[in-house]
Amino acid sequence: MTQHGKRVVLFGGTFDPPHVGHLLMAQLALEQSAASAVWFLPSPTPPHKSHEAVAEYLLRKEMVAALIYGFDGLVLTPLEEQLSPPHYTIDTVRACQDRYPDDHFVFLVGSDSLAQLPTWQDAEALTRSIEFLVAVRSGYPYHQALHQVQQRLPELRARVLEMPLLDVSSSFLRPRLLANRPTCGLIPDGVLEVWREWHER
Ligand code: ATP
Repeated sequence: MTQHGKRVVLFGGTFDPPHVGHLLMAQLALEQSAASAVWFLPSPTPPHKSHEAVAEYLLRKEMVAALIYGFDGLVLTPLEEQLSPPHYTIDTVRACQDRYPDDHFVFLVGSDSLAQLPTWQDAEALTRSIEFLVAVRSGYPYHQALHQVQQRLPELRARVLEMPLLDVSSSFLRPRLLANRPTCGLIPDGVLEVWREWHER
């Protein structure tokens, strides 16, 4: 980090829909890395979800804005829409580092994503470019995931985020939204409003 640079946490995801797990991990990442901001980077075309139906980018972006409304330091950064698809993380990280050369970036992921890292585009170059901050998810113990990934990507640098396990996922919530079932606070009201307005159009 240069003397004048600020620390920024990059948080890529599909956010279909965003939920309290995303919110808590971002807030804790902000606090624990003494960063000035966490940039939410919704992916316009998530490369690892190319075979799944994903909600429209504009809706996901509006839902993220609603999720982080009122939380200082959590910022919607729709940078990937300026990059050409397929929106690989390596390209996003390079774009951030090129545009803001004085700043220091870390990348926030869940431990399930960490476990998948060897399958990401240019994974070796990615691990050389940026350090990872990892929120543990149930089924993916941190040290096990770290050890396995380091076998394939020895240059991986990672730190664990101190966070209670919050076993909530977009894939659990999506069918509940579609079936009009309660999501019991796992999706903040502001996000639900955006989702409902969009589907009433
Ligand atoms: P899906 O269930 O559709 O895969 P998701 O809940 O994992 O969605 P994403 O937008 O794909 O949501 O997640 C973005 C990032 O946040 C990923 O790195 C994912 O591992 C992480 N993440 C999401 N929810 C949690 C959670 N509850 N605890 C820790 N990490 C999480």
